[in-house]
Amino acid sequence: MDQNFTELNPNDLPTESGHFGIYGGMYVPETLMTPLYELNQAYQDAKKDPDFNQTLKAYLKEFAGRPTNLYFAERLTEYCKGAKIYLKREDLLHTGAHKINNAIGQALLAKRMGKKRIIAETGAGQHGIATASICAKFGLECVIYMGEEDMRRQALNVFRMRLCGAEVRGVSAGQKTLKEAVNEAMRDWVTNVRNTHYIIGSALGSHPFPMMVRDFHRVIGEEARSQILEKEGRLPDEICACVGGGSNAIGLFFPFLKDKDVRLTGVEAGGRAIKNGEHAARFVGGKLGVLQGAKTWILQTEDGQIDATHSVSAGLDYAAVGPEHAFYKDKGRIDFGYASDEEALNAFKTLCKVEGIVPALETAHGIAYAIKRAKELSKESLILCNLSGRGDKDVQEAARVLGEDL
Ligand SMILES: *Cc1c(COP(=O)(O)O)cnc(C)c1O
Repeated sequence: MDQNFTELNPNDLPTESGHFGIYGGMYVPETLMTPLYELNQAYQDAKKDPDFNQTLKAYLKEFAGRPTNLYFAERLTEYCKGAKIYLKREDLLHTGAHKINNAIGQALLAKRMGKKRIIAETGAGQHGIATASICAKFGLECVIYMGEEDMRRQALNVFRMRLCGAEVRGVSAGQKTLKEAVNEAMRDWVTNVRNTHYIIGSALGSHPFPMMVRDFHRVIGEEARSQILEKEGRLPDEICACVGGGSNAIGLFFPFLKDKDVRLTGVEAGGRAIKNGEHAARFVGGKLGVLQGAKTWILQTEDGQIDATHSVSAGLDYAAVGPEHAFYKDKGRIDFGYASDEEALNAFKTLCKVEGIVPALETAHGIAYAIKRAKELSKESLILCNLSGRGDKDVQEAARVLGEDL
């Protein structure tokens, strides 16, 4: 643990060019520098504008359904015979995951900047659906880039986006998944930046996105912090969340950063095994590199080419981790672990069985860790885990992997 951590003021981060220590930054084509600076300026202005904040709050309440419950998982606690487990119910939000917090925030910002066209990338489809929904609500033109392999696996989500009026454009390059969809969205943005805003779906990419996406998800941690104080009269001993790009985790963790007695743990996807191409645990198998705008921990080959990744959950299946997580890992403020495909599937089944809650497969990685950790801790301890999304989208894939007929 870095002794000086509590003297850092997290609100002062990142620097003007978006560096979290050595991480982050703006590694983009020159044509994007001006629009990114404009976006940053617009965001900094909006952040200080009471009208913007009030409107944002109203949509989070009326459209998305905030605040979400902090739920005592009584039967899961009994099952673990250890620490008391609380779940932050982001799965109860409109469109089924935390993604809508950021989609609403950035769509409002786009409106403020006078941009009438929205583009986004999506992997499993959760971010695409959140973006398509808010664009329908605001009457904004919406184009979603999605790898053709993901379109095949998530056909229902493609239809859902189209129902909401979005155009879904398939991407056939490379592995035909999320990374290629991001490349295609960036290409579109460079060409159409005058009338277009690119809503990135996680705490990734060039400055100001990691910071801005984090800020739109901070509400998760702010609510959770006051809810646990109200229910238990104290802060939890540990909080945990799954980490793909890292948006649900940083949103939950950020308001607890200065509470030095609260342990923060991010859970990456361990996949089939910690071997090249078989997992997405960047802090275990990765190295420092640059991908899609930011310097961070990345899974790569000896030559520095981006490595293939695997996870049972599409939302964690990405070669880079959000730069702010890399920064706090170095500071010793956030710990990272991983859950394998098998551990996540077991946690998925357990939560269904003992609580009647079907979590997303991404979320199940965080739950797997919470179960393991609760068993190690005493009954007086408190664990708070983010239930980042619901698993309706995953039941078919879970049935396939678990070898059951639907
Ligand atoms: C997209 C997604 C994730 C992973 O993204 P983060 O940016 O790491 O939060 C996790 N859980 C759910 C339910 C998702 O939809």
